[in-house]
Formats: sequence, C-alpha cells, structure tokens
Amino acid sequence: MAYWRRTPRQMQAATDAVAVAPDSAVVQKPPKPRGRMMRQYDLVERVRSYNPDTNEDLLNRAYVYAMKAHGTQTRASGDPYFSHPLEVAAILTGLKLDDATIVAALLHDTIEDTEATRAEIDQVFGHEIGALVEGLTKLKRLELVSREAKQAENLRKLLLAIADDVRVLLIKLADRLHNMRTLEFVPPASRRRIAEETLDIYAPLAGRMGMQEMREELEDLSFHVLDPEAYAVVKHRLDALADRNRNLIGEIESQLSKNLQKNGLAARVYGRRKQPFSIWTKMERKSVGFEQLSDIYGFRIVLGDIEACYRALGVVHTTWPVVPGRFKDYISTPKQNDYRSIHTTVIGPGKQRVELQIRTEEMNQIAEFGIAAHAFYKEGGSPTERLKHESNAFAWLRHTIGILSESANPEEFLEHTKLELFHDQVFCFTPKGKLIALPRNANVIDFAYAVHTDVGNSAVGCKINGKFAPLSSELQNGDEVEVLTSKAQSAPPSAWEALAVTGKARAAIRRATRAAVRDQYAGLGRRIIDRLFARAKIEYADDKLKGALPRLARTSIEDVLVSVGRGELKASDVARAMYPDYKEERLVRYGTRKALAAKAQTPPHPARAASVIPVRGINSELPVKFAPNGGAVPGDRIVGIVTPGEGITIYPIQSPALKDFEDEPERWLDVRWDIDETMPQRFPARILVHNVNEPGSLAQIATVIAEHDGNIDNIHMSRRSPDFTELTIDLEVYDLKHLSAIIAQLRAKAVVARVERVNG
Ligand code: MN
Repeated sequence: MAYWRRTPRQMQAATDAVAVAPDSAVVQKPPKPRGRMMRQYDLVERVRSYNPDTNEDLLNRAYVYAMKAHGTQTRASGDPYFSHPLEVAAILTGLKLDDATIVAALLHDTIEDTEATRAEIDQVFGHEIGALVEGLTKLKRLELVSREAKQAENLRKLLLAIADDVRVLLIKLADRLHNMRTLEFVPPASRRRIAEETLDIYAPLAGRMGMQEMREELEDLSFHVLDPEAYAVVKHRLDALADRNRNLIGEIESQLSKNLQKNGLAARVYGRRKQPFSIWTKMERKSVGFEQLSDIYGFRIVLGDIEACYRALGVVHTTWPVVPGRFKDYISTPKQNDYRSIHTTVIGPGKQRVELQIRTEEMNQIAEFGIAAHAFYKEGGSPTERLKHESNAFAWLRHTIGILSESANPEEFLEHTKLELFHDQVFCFTPKGKLIALPRNANVIDFAYAVHTDVGNSAVGCKINGKFAPLSSELQNGDEVEVLTSKAQSAPPSAWEALAVTGKARAAIRRATRAAVRDQYAGLGRRIIDRLFARAKIEYADDKLKGALPRLARTSIEDVLVSVGRGELKASDVARAMYPDYKEERLVRYGTRKALAAKAQTPPHPARAASVIPVRGINSELPVKFAPNGGAVPGDRIVGIVTPGEGITIYPIQSPALKDFEDEPERWLDVRWDIDETMPQRFPARILVHNVNEPGSLAQIATVIAEHDGNIDNIHMSRRSPDFTELTIDLEVYDLKHLSAIIAQLRAKAVVARVERVNG
C-alpha cells in the first residue's frame, strides 16, 4: 500500500470527523495526517526499503541542507516550513522513486523561498538535481505570477516545464498533494482557488499519468473543499453502508480466495470502497441515486502472471453468474495511460453485485502508481530512460508537448489537448477568460452555477460565442459563455432542476426554489394572520409572537407564518397563543358568501389591497388550484379557500360549492387576479350544452369552440331524451370575455338548444 494512503487510524479519524447528519451544513475539517515530523533516519529507512543501493550520504546532505535553508520559516499551520518538503519527499518514497527525485523533493522550495541558488545546488548536489529543482521553481513562479492569467496558458507552461524531466511532474503532484492535505490552514478564498485548480488540472493530470491513487486523493480533497455538503452526504452514506456491510467484504474476499485456491491459483484478493468524489461524479453522470449504484465496492484479484489472470477469470465466471455487458479486457488492449486489468462483474456471495479487477502485481503497481511505477519496476537505465521506452503515458506527454510547441496560442493548445486529457469534461470560458470546467453534456445553467450561485439564480438568458442561445444549450469545448442576469428574478424556475447536469447546479436550484416557496408561504401566512388580527381588533407584534413560540411548538416567527400559510396551523390558534383570552369571533360572518359577494362589488380599499393575494394562475409556486367542477377564469370575482396540506383552491364567487365553507371563515382568503397581459395563459372553465340529436351536431359544436380558439379538455355526453343530448364540456379559455364569446357563438347555432356555464 502506498505511503500516501492514510493509515487505518487516520482513516478512522477521518470517518469520525464526518459522521454527522447528512443535511448538516457544518463544514467539516478535512482529515489531516498529523503527528511528529519525520526524522532523517526515517526517510533514509523508507528509501532503503525499496532501494538498497541508495546514496544515504546524498539523502542526509539534502535533508540537512533544506532544513538549514528554510531555517525558522513556518507554514500557515505553524509547523516548521521544512516539514513540507520532507512530507513531499515521503510521499515520493511511497512511489519508490530514485534518489535524485527524493533529494529534489527535499530541495524543491529552496531556490524560490530561501537564499539557495541554482548554482549552489548544482555545486552541492550535481546538475541533474539542480535541473529538477529549477523545473519546480519555474512551476512555483508560474503559480504566483499568473494567478489571474488564463488557465490554458498555465497548463501549457506547466506541461512545458515538465517537458525536460517527467520527475518534475511527479514531485509537483506530490507537492500539490501535501498542500491539499494541509489546505485547511490557508485562507478560505485561496483554499477554493487551489482546490479548483487541483480538480481541473492536477487530478486529471495524475489520472492521465496513470496515478489513480494520487488522482483519487486529490479529487477527494478538492471535492471536500469545493462542496463540503455533498462530500458529507456521500461520506456519511458510504460509512453507513460500510457499517451495514461490515462482514460482507471479508466474506466475499474469503470466498473468492477459497475458490481460486481450490483451482490452484495463488491470489491476493482485497476489496476497496470507492472514494466519495468518484461516487458523486458517477451519481451525477448517470443521474442515479446512491442506492442504485451497484459498484460502490470493487474487488481486486492480484495474481502471478497473465495466464493466471485468465484462469482466475474462468473460475470466477463458472462460479458466479456474470452480469452481462460489464466484461472488459484491458490486458489484451491496455488503456492509453498504460492501465491493464480484466474487469468483470458477477452476482457474487450474498447475491451482491461484485465488481472485479483481475491483474498481475506489475499491472497493479502501474494501476496505482502509473508513470511512476515504470521508474522503479524494471531494471536498467535511468528512470527517465525507462519511461521513454515503456510508458504510454510518457509517450502521451511527449506527444502533447510536441503539439504545444507547434500551436500558436494557448487556446489552440487547449483545443488539442483537453479532449485527450480531460475526455469527460468540457472547458468553457467566461467573457473575462476564466476557465470553467464542466462534465460533458453540461449546459449553460450548469455553467452559470459554476460561476456563482447568484449568477445561476438570476440567469435569464445567455450568449454563446456572442450569439443568443437558450439556457438549456449543451456546451461545447472552448465556448465563451456570457450569462445574462436579471435582478427581477429572485429564484430560478424549478423546472431547471431537471435540466441541470451538475449536482452543484441541481442542489442550488433546489435550495433556491425551496426558499422561494417557503417565502411565499410565509407571505401568505402573514396575510392570513394580519387579516384575522385586524378583524378581531387585536394587535400583532413580532415580540409578542416570539414569546408565544413554545406554545405553538415552533422555533421561529417564520416557522409560524409558513405553517399558517400552509394551512397546518390556524391563525386563530396563533392569536390564542399570543392572547390567551382571545375568543374566535363566530358572530362576524365576515367570510360568508354574501359578505364577500357584497365586497366583491366594490373595488378593494387601497389600504387593504396589500392583504389581497395575487393569483398568477396555475404556474404559481404556491399550490393554487381551481375549483374542480368548473374552475375560474380571469374576469370572475374569485375567492380562495385554504385546504390544510393542499393549498388554495380558487372559486368563482358565484360557485355553489362555497356554501360548504360558510362555517369556516378562517379558510376564506381574499384573492385577486394578477395576470401578465403579455403572456396569455389559459384557465379551466366548464359549460353545459344541450343540443339537438342530429348527425354532425357534436362536430359543429367542437368546430365553433375550436374556431374561437377554445381548447377542449374533455367532453362528457349523456342522453337526456330521444331528441336532446347534454354535453358537459371542460375547456380552457383566456378569460371571461373569451368564455362569454364562445358561449354566445354556441347559442347562435341551430343545433344548440341551451348553453350555460357550470360554476365549481
Ligand atoms: Mn512546495
């Protein structure tokens, strides 16, 4: 196991740290490996364990040189600065790298941050190490200087800087890994930027170099910083699952081993669970929930040679049912980054879907260490020499750098590279040139939320490469996207949630629409309370309500308002909680049909108009619906009836159904139409048509309605007599005038004997 994987104790600490409720907004501290600083002999011991011929003197000199050079410098954490290059070197011993790499890691910050010079390092440690340290110094300067420059340019320079010696990249990745592990001590703003850069550039680069473990840890640490809530949710559920399946992994491991052994195959079998970030991206990519993910656990079967791998595959396939479509042979056809393995999925012990990776020890090393594995696995030649001959990843790197030297500008370079490096992402730019990396298939909504939640919430339109485009447009590599926002839009349409591809956008939309709906309920609750208090001539005061919260079993005023708005709490109960001697005024039948009908004749008093609830039609975020038997159309005088848990039902004032609510004045609401003239919307109405039974009469009626732009939703026919049929027609019209026009046209038809409107 590589050194950089945490020890079991650290894993446990990490688990404990995030074992909180998944909906907790608390930002968890990332797991951090702490403890005493490594000593000189620890480092030498680590190197000696895989390289008996190590030059101990060289390592010791570098240790002392770096320690002296950094002197009393400290890191953001307060630790001595020297602890950082030391940890970076230690990470690289996990990759079993050569002395020059370990020494360069110890020295990697000396030229930039101390009195040390290239010439001196060349003199003391030789030209090879001097060149490595200088390569890293260039990279560091790149980070400092061009923080605001386009990331495409940065990536280009980064790749150019590592062109001379790929070990620079390995040290740089280890450097970034250690910085990510200790990121909590860095100010929040730069923390985010570093995490973004890690996720955009370094993690994919590690993956592209075949260093999967490195990539996973970089991704997870970044994910933790960039989306702590999502991280906590996934981690929490992974832990819960691990708890539930505590014995299952061991059982599957031992059954697999036993079966292979029975067939004369010596194999190392171990299960490992996937990391939160890879689970999260899988959930995003496939739009599936956690429960639907079958491959949270992967098992590795590591064998002696390739022949044993195929025999093991045979054993597995004859022992357990195979899940079709999941078999892949990367041994005969390696991936571009040198990855080799056989993949298959079976229904294993306990009817559990088990994802298996079958490979040799060497393949396993390459799968974990990628390009670094080549540096130590084979004998002979310098590490870079070996890389040149054996590594596809290295070939890719050379190829990419080749393109680099030919492309005129960074964008063009990115155009060439990104598809290869980041094949599952698209790269787009803000008008200011900031690079936004998104998963493939992402659209402008995702882009807007990736820029900023506020930009997403207020997005109303966009320009892609200067042209107006719908927000749902799928983005292509290199698109320049300008998001147009409007202050008037306080919350995004809830339908966006289904359009967004990224979890970040979806979660933000859900949060914003939930908050908007809650606001509306609170507003509604406030109006209901205001009205009851005005009617009862008692005074409302926030302070007074605050004191009554325990009696109402609510924790905040807003909670009370929302509950009243939702109809879960009666306004009269609120009044009683505030004024224990409050008595409901049953005598004032304010809300009766007569009273309201009378009131409806007079225009609302300006002072009262504020408490009238606007009905925007059926698209309102508040659950507003129309009377089930007939509906209501603009132009009708309307009344709202609150139904607990369901919302508001709108009735025309003349509806006979209102009689049923006469004894419950607290359920009556003043409502008014609030129709946007520029956006014609249809509303439900019902008419009853008596027509003469003759061939084609129904067709004539339907034609009249259609010709006058009425939408027929439903027709119910019942024959009343041999001569007449009664038709109940549900239709959708724009308003009362529209409905009246249709009725008048129907009446003009000879086949129509009588038409009347049905009210709720
Ligand atoms: Mn460093």
